[in-house]
Amino acid sequence: MAEALVLERQGVLSIRDIDLPQELGPDDVRIRIHTVGICGSDVHYYTHGRIGPFVVNDPMVLGHEAAGTVIETGSRVRNLKIGDRVCMEPGIPDPISRASRMGIYNVDPAVTFWATPPVHGCLTPTVVHPAAFTYRLPDNVSFGEGAMVEPFAIGVQAAVKAAIKPGDTCLVTGCGPIGLMTALAALASGAGVVFISDLAAPKLEIAGRYDGIEPINVHDENPRDVISRHVGADWGADVVFEASGFAGAYDDVLSCVRPGGTVVFVGMPVEKVPFDIVAAQAKEIRMETVFRYANVYERAIALIASGKVDLKPLISETFAFTQGVAAFERAASARPTDVKLQVMMPGATRT
Ligand SMILES: [Zn+2]
Repeated sequence: MAEALVLERQGVLSIRDIDLPQELGPDDVRIRIHTVGICGSDVHYYTHGRIGPFVVNDPMVLGHEAAGTVIETGSRVRNLKIGDRVCMEPGIPDPISRASRMGIYNVDPAVTFWATPPVHGCLTPTVVHPAAFTYRLPDNVSFGEGAMVEPFAIGVQAAVKAAIKPGDTCLVTGCGPIGLMTALAALASGAGVVFISDLAAPKLEIAGRYDGIEPINVHDENPRDVISRHVGADWGADVVFEASGFAGAYDDVLSCVRPGGTVVFVGMPVEKVPFDIVAAQAKEIRMETVFRYANVYERAIALIASGKVDLKPLISETFAFTQGVAAFERAASARPTDVKLQVMMPGATRT
């Protein structure tokens, strides 16, 4: 039995003892969890009890954005040792699946992912995880930043899919946490300027603190007009990342991308959305999609460790584990000035 933050059912959270798998296999490590970030998906399971086909039918431990310290290693583990500070990829694919063999393990139909029903998450003092999906953090990367690697990896995956070229003009539609991560990853990947659009002024204000990121408030300005001023009325952005999932954004995406440019779909609309195929064809747009990430954790950690990407200002507040339920209520209230809320486990000291 271990203490954990448990989603009992829709709308009901508790901190209590629960039976969790603790057996250490030869290729696993045991990790003492230090910090866990609260993700939009955790909050959505709490408030709605489901995401698409994934339904919370039984009590489930939440959390999948984590950093901690290795406290035990399996007999075959060579890449990690006791005391290593690490972060973890929350998805565990079947290593011999066809998707894994192709290097696209994120779309392995057999993947198990923390805090996706019926799989428990990591808001508990210790977890057992495959060493192959556990990554050492350099000394200058804090546990808080380590717990940000998971959402940042989505931005890095988007930048990789975009195949950004030096000096590209980019637009990100949607300034939520994932939009911000995408903008920072695009900038660190060589974009000349990254515009980011949203309706929420406080979110845009946070984005605008970064050199190279230019906020667009769609209340005041049409993104198309801003892009035209920058690259000319007959041209557009080299890359547009859709990171809002808002149905109204897809027309902006098509009008803002340049002929022959790239659109990367990162945001997930709740419902099917109408999409103007002919408008996309008329510009011969290359379209890419993002589902989680594969093979980008080292890249994400390298960008943080080198100082090219500073995620620390995006950690809005850190709660003690005993205040975990309050942290989720705060996250569910969706303050526009909050980017990332994190929970620190009992006994955790340095950030
Ligand atoms: Zn997440």
